[in-house]
Amino acid sequence: MVHLLSELPYGKDALAPAISLETMEYHYGKHFQAYIDNLNKLIEGSPYEDMEIGEIVMKAGGAIFNNAAQAWNHDFYFQTLTPSPVEMPEILAEKLEKTFGSVQDFKSEFIKAAATVFGSGWAWLCKDKEENLSIVTTQNADNPMTQGLKPLLVIDVWEHAYYIDYRNRRAAYLEAIWNLIDWEKVSSRL
Ligand code: MN
Repeated sequence: MVHLLSELPYGKDALAPAISLETMEYHYGKHFQAYIDNLNKLIEGSPYEDMEIGEIVMKAGGAIFNNAAQAWNHDFYFQTLTPSPVEMPEILAEKLEKTFGSVQDFKSEFIKAAATVFGSGWAWLCKDKEENLSIVTTQNADNPMTQGLKPLLVIDVWEHAYYIDYRNRRAAYLEAIWNLIDWEKVSSRL
């Protein structure tokens, strides 16, 4: 199958000023698109040709894994953002309070983890098979599904996610993007 860039649930300029139109044009329009294009080229005639991207992430290695995981991660990232966030659903807030002490403590821990990823990577909120929540960071394209975890939320901390708008100020990007998280979507993944 030929994989396509997933459509955004909002306009490319809708997340501005936190995430500018220019960042979206590069990040969604060029970086994400390149992972999809590379993946399509790499899987042609391979055993991965007819698999969904999530299945390729679980089974492939090397360049096919890297491009499939980056495609999956970017889709998950962009789908988790919204220009019109609503209050966090109670079920999620209670689970975060139980695990981290409070929603504010969860935010502090998550942002600290995301801010200290060395080099390129991702910060995740995940659920394990015993329903426990945890903050996980991964490097490069890595995805926690390969460790048996279910992703609920992800923030991209590759420099291409924030360099146009924030230059080297990753912490400022993290504070700004926190206000664009679609908590209903995160909660629905519980
Ligand atoms: Mn990215």
